[in-house]
Amino acid sequence: MFQTDLLKGKRILITGGGTGLGRSIGKRYLELGAELVICGRRLEVLEATAKELSQETGGKVMPLQCDVRDADAVEQMMNRIWESGPLDILVNNAAGTFLAQTHKLSPRAIDSVLGIVLHGSAYCTVAAGRRWIEAGQPGCVLSILTLGALTGAPFTAPSAMAKAGVLAMTRSLAAEWGPKGIRLVAIAPGPFPTPGAWERLMPEQKTKGDPVEKTIPLRRVGQHEELANLASFLVSDQAGYITGECVVIDGGKMLIGGGGGVNTASMLDWTDAQWAELRKK
Ligand code: NAP
Repeated sequence: MFQTDLLKGKRILITGGGTGLGRSIGKRYLELGAELVICGRRLEVLEATAKELSQETGGKVMPLQCDVRDADAVEQMMNRIWESGPLDILVNNAAGTFLAQTHKLSPRAIDSVLGIVLHGSAYCTVAAGRRWIEAGQPGCVLSILTLGALTGAPFTAPSAMAKAGVLAMTRSLAAEWGPKGIRLVAIAPGPFPTPGAWERLMPEQKTKGDPVEKTIPLRRVGQHEELANLASFLVSDQAGYITGECVVIDGGKMLIGGGGGVNTASMLDWTDAQWAELRKK
């Protein structure tokens, strides 16, 4: 899809890059010539991923332990990165969420999700942005959101709230930092199978008899390469005039929720006989 040197010479930090979608995006960036830094809380996971990705792509990967909820730890991480050269691109991908009735959430549970997604993304973005602005250097921030940032999300409300906040940050700073040559973009993915998301968000009792594909007009979940390619285009110089934008990649899932108080998604499977029955009424 792309020239293999699309991201040559770019130094990119992916938060939560040791697993799941962050790892898949990182692999694509390496294939396109980038140098990678990945961070997360579990150093052993990061080190194993760094080793595997380097072996698979021949690229350079630096694993750094960092809890993005901790502003001091984020500053220390950025100092360590900048010691060996500036970043060009930041990907805010780290997240944590779980299904729960919102009225039963403890303050600690709410703070935990907001801490990783809202505060963590803000700390990382400001830490990188300040360094770019002080050096008079351009930069790019890509934030991985979720459909809930645009629609709201029952039973994962803190995540939807936090990601909506990150979208507001993306739009605010796209304007504020535009004159400095810094772009901010976002992606709102629909369902892309990862062990992390599936364990937390697709328990058997939720999916039993109702496979997730049934809620998606294109009738399939996303493939990691599809997201990784979009994430590559958006941070590349080819997308140099796009800023403040959020791209939805969801097989049409977001568009099937509406419609007169009925379960529109289930209507996708109605037979001609069912439609004929409706017309008779
Ligand atoms: P995942 O594998 O669980 O990825 C989450 C990553 O974030 C992990 O590597 C985790 O590493 C890291 N992380 C969590 N808390 C952290 C903290 N405090 N500091 C630093 N790193 C932290 O799940 P995923 O499915 O790939 O999700 C990746 C992104 O895509 C998330 O932003 C998610 O909201 C978004 N998304 C995913 C889907 C989907 O269907 N998969 C759909 C919509 C949006 P440690 O635990 O080692 O810290």
